[in-house]
Amino acid sequence: MLAAGVCHSDLHLSDGYFDLGGGKRLSIVDRGMKLPVTLGHENVGEVAAIGPDARGVKIGDRRLVDPWMGCGKCGVCRRGDEQLCLKPGSIGVFRNGGYSDFLMVPHPRYLFDIGDMPPERAAPLACSGVTTYGALKKVGPTLTTEPVVIIGAGGLGLMCIALHKAMGGHCAIVVDIDPKKREAAKTAGAHTVIDGGAADAVAQIIAATKGGAWAVIDLVGSSATARLGIDSLIKGGKLIIVGLYGGDITMSLPPFPMRAITVQGSYVGSLTETAELIELVRRTGLPPVPVATRPLTDVNAVLDDLRAGKVIGRVVLTPN
Ligand SMILES: [Zn+2]
Ligand SMILES: [Zn+2]
Repeated sequence: MLAAGVCHSDLHLSDGYFDLGGGKRLSIVDRGMKLPVTLGHENVGEVAAIGPDARGVKIGDRRLVDPWMGCGKCGVCRRGDEQLCLKPGSIGVFRNGGYSDFLMVPHPRYLFDIGDMPPERAAPLACSGVTTYGALKKVGPTLTTEPVVIIGAGGLGLMCIALHKAMGGHCAIVVDIDPKKREAAKTAGAHTVIDGGAADAVAQIIAATKGGAWAVIDLVGSSATARLGIDSLIKGGKLIIVGLYGGDITMSLPPFPMRAITVQGSYVGSLTETAELIELVRRTGLPPVPVATRPLTDVNAVLDDLRAGKVIGRVVLTPN
């Protein structure tokens, strides 16, 4: 292991549950996790050993690990969506992850050549990179012609701004309640930043998008942000929920057909999307997301900092 990014979802996994709203919780054990599990799903390592049937890699190769693996055999996996397999086997979630000296990867198809990219800069591509790339792809053709509203300017948000630009996105309007994160979003290239806690946040988004958002990517996924996203859509617009903060919303049904809106979930990305993302980064350069490195032994302190909202960009552990 050379680099292991610390992701916000590790907080939920270490808490042991996801907040479903209304006092309900989804326990990670009910979701299929067998404890104990070593966390860490944004991994880059150097191949130290290979099994007799593993093809296409050799000892000493530096590879990014796509952690979103399924059974590889079912219809969902065969259509190319291993990340949506009903028997998920994701690294750092359902099997041991990269907060460790060594990591076992069950098949070389999950390994991606990163060329001469620094491991700590490449590691976040495995989760924050492919997650935002997968969400941006769901925006569709209006990505290059209309503004996209991005809610949340943490590590995921800054990655999303950078990839949106790399994909030829029209412009990014970024919403966050934290002035420091809005500042970071501005530096990262956001066209407009909006305080999501402002009483007139919806009106501000509608003004900034000249009539309502064609697409909102909610990287927070709380009751408040989902509501803000839906209320800011233009007719025919789409809310893409990515964040797992938790909560619930109540929606009247007639506005779905009358406003022809879409609410779509987006969970990480497929192996094909990881391959496309690495190709995009090769062409356009690594996303300029601030990355700080810390030794593996600091993992709990890093998780505490993340929980306290003190992290701008990404912290990556460097086990070796
Ligand atoms: Zn993650
Ligand atoms: Zn499967």
